[in-house]
Amino acid sequence: MTPAIRCQSLTKAFNGTVAVAETDLEVAEGRLLALLGPSGCGKTTVLRMIAGFETPDRGTVEIGGRRVEGEGTHVPPERRKVGMVFQEYALFPHLDVEGNTGFGVPPGPEKAARVREVLDLVGLEGVRHRMPHELSGGQQQRVALARALAPRPEVILLDEPFSNLDAALRQRVRAEVRHILHQAGVSAVFVTHDQEEALSLADEVAVMIEGRVLQTGTPERLYRRPGSHRVATFLGEANFLPGRASGDQVECRLGPLPLLEPAEGEVEVMFRPEDLVMTADPDGPAEIVDRIYYGHDQTLVLRLGDLTLKSRLVGCCRGFREGQRVRLHVEMPVMAYPSPYGCPIAG
Ligand code: ATP
Repeated sequence: MTPAIRCQSLTKAFNGTVAVAETDLEVAEGRLLALLGPSGCGKTTVLRMIAGFETPDRGTVEIGGRRVEGEGTHVPPERRKVGMVFQEYALFPHLDVEGNTGFGVPPGPEKAARVREVLDLVGLEGVRHRMPHELSGGQQQRVALARALAPRPEVILLDEPFSNLDAALRQRVRAEVRHILHQAGVSAVFVTHDQEEALSLADEVAVMIEGRVLQTGTPERLYRRPGSHRVATFLGEANFLPGRASGDQVECRLGPLPLLEPAEGEVEVMFRPEDLVMTADPDGPAEIVDRIYYGHDQTLVLRLGDLTLKSRLVGCCRGFREGQRVRLHVEMPVMAYPSPYGCPIAG
């Protein structure tokens, strides 16, 4: 099937400094892709090149199978069938909800019905005559989304769409936006630097660091099977320790562990703190040295010889306390990366 968006080898430099390098990206029809990366890694520049606000130095952009950028083509933004939702929403202050929503819809007999349909979809029928300043942050967000959806774009691009909302509202609005986009059946890309937001909202996540997309995949695949140390740490907390791999098994200080993907030789083993299970044992090789409490869960910091590891416990601490000795067991198969260590298992 033709992807809704396909970017190939997108490259852009500003004043000689490369902001985006050789970026490939594909969004399948009706899917929601998160472009996730730290501040300044080039996410917004990619979005602006898809929208046509920025011209790449090299590379191509296709929307719905149609070339809109590259190799002599430059379709202007207003003819790309792209809807944008900006961080600050950019609503027109002098237009009410209905006026904002209908702004990009061509005049005609169907305009009023289309505006009503979209307002119904985003749940704002009841406030259609209010002005932007009379709306909550979440409602303003939905008007911005309605305005982007109303002209029936092929794709929607959202730039840090939740960063203006407080933490409690953000959770709810995220779920609403995901639902609305799926209901509308529209393909979308949203930019975020928040890994939790990317994992919880997107169908696919592309991790971008220093101008390059390092890995793309479903949230679960990226979290469980990050392809490198950098992607692993960017997506959440991770334990790393040296090991020696042979096929689908790795030998390390926690014993032999099954591997998610086969590897050979000296490696760096990676697994998530929630996969490290502790058993109280006065003769255990590890000691609990710290406890970080988050409410819904907590992280126990462990010392195993010269290694520091983390174990995450959901709910109460189940009697574990600092200074206690424990045995350790890894519950899930682990990942292995080429070793950055000199001598793998010693210590
Ligand atoms: P943030 O999350 O902070 O918005 P980002 O990942 O979206 O960051 P970009 O805004 O794409 O990053 O910027 C990537 C790099 O390109 C940055 O170093 C930025 O300073 C630079 N840059 C972006 N736009 C321009 C411009 N118009 N002129 C010069 N440099 C620019």
